[in-house]
Amino acid sequence: MNRILGKTQIFLLIPALWFGTESFALILSSLPLERGYAKIKAVSEFDLSSYTIPPDQQKSVIEKFCSEMAKEFKRYSWHQAPCEGVEWHAQLKTNGNHPLLYTTFGEGVNTTLVLGGVHPDELTPIHLAFRFARHLQANPSIYKDKGIRVVVAPVVNPDGFLRKRPTRTNTSDVDLNRNFLTFDWYRDALKSWSKKLYVTRFFPGYFPNSEIETVFQNILLETYQPAKNLSIHAPLGFYDYDGPGDKLTKPLTPLEEDAKLLVQRVSEKSRNYRIVDYSFYPGSLGNLAGKQRRIPTLTLELETTDPKLVDVYWKKFLPGFNQSVQFPYKWEPSLR
Ligand SMILES: [Zn+2]
Repeated sequence: MNRILGKTQIFLLIPALWFGTESFALILSSLPLERGYAKIKAVSEFDLSSYTIPPDQQKSVIEKFCSEMAKEFKRYSWHQAPCEGVEWHAQLKTNGNHPLLYTTFGEGVNTTLVLGGVHPDELTPIHLAFRFARHLQANPSIYKDKGIRVVVAPVVNPDGFLRKRPTRTNTSDVDLNRNFLTFDWYRDALKSWSKKLYVTRFFPGYFPNSEIETVFQNILLETYQPAKNLSIHAPLGFYDYDGPGDKLTKPLTPLEEDAKLLVQRVSEKSRNYRIVDYSFYPGSLGNLAGKQRRIPTLTLELETTDPKLVDVYWKKFLPGFNQSVQFPYKWEPSLR
């Protein structure tokens, strides 16, 4: 609260208390926002030049990043080098000068986008996302000649991970899973943050899509048009589903039935990991991709952020990961 509640605001709180709690909330939120609007360096989708890695530098930037990541992995006693054996791509870099890494496997319209490290302080998802990429590289039979494509972006928020102490947010203190342009963003994102007592780690940004990491995820969604998304988080301990058929019971359309079957099959393959209908937030991926664009979007919440448990989670969730990419979900372009 200290960084938000300045002296000026304390003076302004007195009339706010006089006028009631609504004004109180308004004044509390508007001043840091004004300050933010003045200093914010938002990313324009039309000018990505300062975030672009020149093609002739991409290879060396990725190599340097991968060795930095390998060093960081050792901190958690994760001994396998994360990038090993996989052909990575990165055209964009963050404010912290780290590449936004991704890779693709196979060809086809049955495309799954797998995201890790949106909230790097959760640790375990980053390990699993890199490991899944290496697994796909080593086991092409999962997708090859089956019309299956998998896109993996294992560490969406590298700046947050490579800090001395990993953080949920990026270098601009933005929670990337609140920064997507959803229909309710302008109406609700900052209001919803105020309910979290303006705690920085949930800050949705001053604008939607203000962060390069959000723009990066949007580009992946646009470029690869995934039929489904799997985003790995921790530590809430369930699968959350957003997409066709969400919150509905019968009668369902064939597409909604298929989407719900996908969730059920993935859960079954993950030792019947529980599925929970968790509320979604303004600016979240589940809201944008699942609710608005009707792309089945699974958020896996691992049970803990304990780096010692990654082998346990790998064994438990790998069959579910494979199921999520192999499930033959047919999306309808007219719905996008
Ligand atoms: Zn998370």
